[in-house]
Amino acid sequence: MQYDVIVIGSGPGGYVAAIRCAQLGLKTAIIEKYSTLGGTCLNVGCIPSKALLDSSEHYHNAAHTFKTHGINLDNLGIDFGQMIKRKEEVVTANTSGITYLMKKNKIDVHQGIGSFKDKNTIVVTKDDKSTQELTTKNVIIATGSKPSALPFIKIDKQRIITSTEALTLKEVPKHLVLIGGGVIGLELGSVYARLGAKVSVIEFMDGIIPTMDKSLGKELQKVLSKLGMEFYLGHKVTGATVQGEEVTVTFDSPKGEKKELKGDYCLVAVGRIAYTDGLGLENIGLTVEERGRKITVDEHLETSVKGVYAIGDVIKGAMLAHKAEDEGTFVAEIIAGQKPHINYNLIPGVVYTWPEVASVGFTEEQLKEKGTKYKTGSFPFKASGRARASGDLDGFVKVLADAATDEILGVHMIGPRAADMIAEAVLAMEYRASAEDVTRTSHAHPTYTEAMREACLAATGNRAIHI
Ligand code: FAD
Ligand code: NAD
Repeated sequence: MQYDVIVIGSGPGGYVAAIRCAQLGLKTAIIEKYSTLGGTCLNVGCIPSKALLDSSEHYHNAAHTFKTHGINLDNLGIDFGQMIKRKEEVVTANTSGITYLMKKNKIDVHQGIGSFKDKNTIVVTKDDKSTQELTTKNVIIATGSKPSALPFIKIDKQRIITSTEALTLKEVPKHLVLIGGGVIGLELGSVYARLGAKVSVIEFMDGIIPTMDKSLGKELQKVLSKLGMEFYLGHKVTGATVQGEEVTVTFDSPKGEKKELKGDYCLVAVGRIAYTDGLGLENIGLTVEERGRKITVDEHLETSVKGVYAIGDVIKGAMLAHKAEDEGTFVAEIIAGQKPHINYNLIPGVVYTWPEVASVGFTEEQLKEKGTKYKTGSFPFKASGRARASGDLDGFVKVLADAATDEILGVHMIGPRAADMIAEAVLAMEYRASAEDVTRTSHAHPTYTEAMREACLAATGNRAIHI
């Protein structure tokens, strides 16, 4: 079979690339080693984690906030099996949606492991070990990533687990010990803390979500502590062992004191590494970077082998589904001879805790380091009428704008529906809006988005109305 483009991997990078290629009239195939399409994101990442976040939030609200709204419930309980079953139904609905989209766009789907024989020939090895050769003019590698491990901890997938197992547990842990206070740890930690587990977070750096603006981590830690989560910051994990149903995690404090925590599960969430196993990169003369095992690409996302491109988690940059999607569209358009563009500085980052955390552009720490002169404006949700009505008073919106030109350089928010609200900041910054431009834009009342306008008012001469 002869194709214009073969995409290896069907995650948000791969399936979006395949659809855009087909839209542009290119004969396209996609190869996926698993029986369902959608990659990490749809099967064991974004979608199932958000399904459990939503379910656990409903339970938490029913148990703790309904009564303040005058709603009383008797015999509230958790059917955890049903919660997991619903999550699986959500995943199936999404992955079958991708199968439908492949058919609709006349993209051939080959199930099996895709491997380079040479740069124009891909061998697909199916589960029964039978093989098929496909030929193509271009290849897009979109093979994603897998969880990182710590060399001194054996992940047994029963008691010492990764995010994949944490999404399919059979019971709510009594005490979940989390290694890593990043996105996965805090999202899945929130799920189980809301369902009643004791959750302890051991983080190497001196703050949680350490790559985001520092103010966000501080506020989130305050809120998650109210939920009962405990934090060991600046602590260095030295080991984890399992005995029966108990896991013992050992770690050193910043002063070098030896500590240990015993729990029934330990979730290791210390980042992810690029996945290239079985691709046969050596057959086309490609190597991966030593650190992170990423594939190197140029500004067109093309590797050093002409006609072989790579996108998503397997290359440099943030490991985010929407970044992979943007790159999928970008490469399809490059192959079709167009001149697309991605502004990597404007890819938002979101943490789906409650309140949600969302961020785009430069952090205050980065601006200080660059020596950029900037001004800030903040607005707390406790001063928002909409937030008072819903009872979501934690958090704020912080806007950073250029001191001289007023151009918005960064927006960092923690609060209700911040994940959706950040879109306004991304759009404003894509059009290089000034803070004043946002202040002159009508925002419906009462909405959480008014906090963005108020923060911009605060940044432009301390003009916020409601503080
Ligand atoms: P992937 O989604 O990893 O897909 C790669 C695919 O390639 C896989 O299906 C794999 O089986 C297949 N493959 C690999 N090698 C071969 C081969 N040789 N032949 C055939 N097939 C192959 N990001 C967000 O933006 N928002 C979120 O809310 C979010 N939540 C997450 C929650 C969790 C628990 C996790 C783990 C991740 C989350 N992410 C989130 C990150 C997101 O899932 C990834 O950034 C995204 O999936 C990367 O897309 P991708 O297409 O590069 O690769
Ligand atoms: P992460 O990089 O977000 O966080 C890992 C954390 O572990 C960091 O804070 C790091 O300092 C800490 N750490 C590293 N080594 C440690 C050690 N030995 N002891 C203690 N702490 C240690 O990684 P993650 O949470 O595993 O997530 C992986 C990827 O998946 C991320 O790149 C993220 O972008 C993506 N993801 C995104 C979302 C989302 O967009 N909402 C959700 C989940 C995952």
